[in-house]
Amino acid sequence: MIKNSNLNIIKVIGGFMAFMDVYSFEFLKNEAEVLVIREVEQQLKSENENMCRCNECVVDVAAIALNNVKPLYRFSLLGALYASQALTEQGYADSVKQAVAQAIVKVKANPSHD
Ligand SMILES: [Zn+2]
Repeated sequence: MIKNSNLNIIKVIGGFMAFMDVYSFEFLKNEAEVLVIREVEQQLKSENENMCRCNECVVDVAAIALNNVKPLYRFSLLGALYASQALTEQGYADSVKQAVAQAIVKVKANPSHD
């Protein structure tokens, strides 16, 4: 429920930027990011020796994997990302593992540079 005072602020300032400023969208956190990045580190540590480790390729792996796992957005004022139930959910952990493995195969076969 939007408070009247907030609606008035939007009306006075006007436009989309005002809307962005009135609410704390910057505190939206996708917890999947932490889980995917951890998994990328794990899989690059223990296998895939022949994959390029440059910034472009490693971040590309994370981006591709993140586009293939269910996002886990929550509102976080603290920035702490470790309370998620998904951390202990085997099904979600497996989907992260699989998405990262597939992303590594893709980037290995087709790196974004020569
Ligand atoms: Zn590379």
